[in-house]
Amino acid sequence: MKLLIVEDQPSLLDAVSVYMTRQGFVVDQASNLKIAQSYVNSGGYDGIFLDLGLPDGNGADFLKQLRAGGFVAPIILMTARDQISDRIKGLDAGADDYVVKPFDLDELHARFHAVLRRYQSASTSLTKLGIFEIDRSGHRLLRLGEEVGLTAKEWALIERLTRHPNAVVPKESLEETLYSIDHDVMSNTLEVHISRIRKKIGKEHIETHRNLGYRFIGAIPNE
Ligand code: CA
Repeated sequence: MKLLIVEDQPSLLDAVSVYMTRQGFVVDQASNLKIAQSYVNSGGYDGIFLDLGLPDGNGADFLKQLRAGGFVAPIILMTARDQISDRIKGLDAGADDYVVKPFDLDELHARFHAVLRRYQSASTSLTKLGIFEIDRSGHRLLRLGEEVGLTAKEWALIERLTRHPNAVVPKESLEETLYSIDHDVMSNTLEVHISRIRKKIGKEHIETHRNLGYRFIGAIPNE
């Protein structure tokens, strides 16, 4: 798992980094927001430890931008005792928890793990439909416990088809789903995508209702 530590006090930055590396994390260090931003752009972080008072700005503003940009992973604030109003601002902006300096590294680690567990249990909530499980936050479809490899458009169609179990979903609504991903008419032929999905999950699992639309069947139909 990969962590980003944002802190301008070198000794603290090093202490946290060394400690978390020993716990088995891959750690990147940023001493200001500019560096932090460039690291975040490269992606792939499972968590961020964030100082609030940084030389080139306020960590709470950075945090707000991160969440607005869709960053979904634990963010723990590392705050000074006199930064109470910033801390509140930070929690409002989407931080998951905070520690007050000087803090115990074991405590930081424990807080992070508690938050991480919350994220993991939220992201593994699966909807069961017959032999399928739908993981809406993870954008995954499982068939008999095995993940079905889907393209972004195929997943979007599955997501739409399974939103209301056993409902016939109008063709127009599925076409809109495709167009919401891209506007290329040629690549958006609904029938083509449906036929590819059928090849992957079994043709009996998507029923055609002529002139109406399609219906997802989770159970194995009776012989
Ligand atoms: Ca600072």
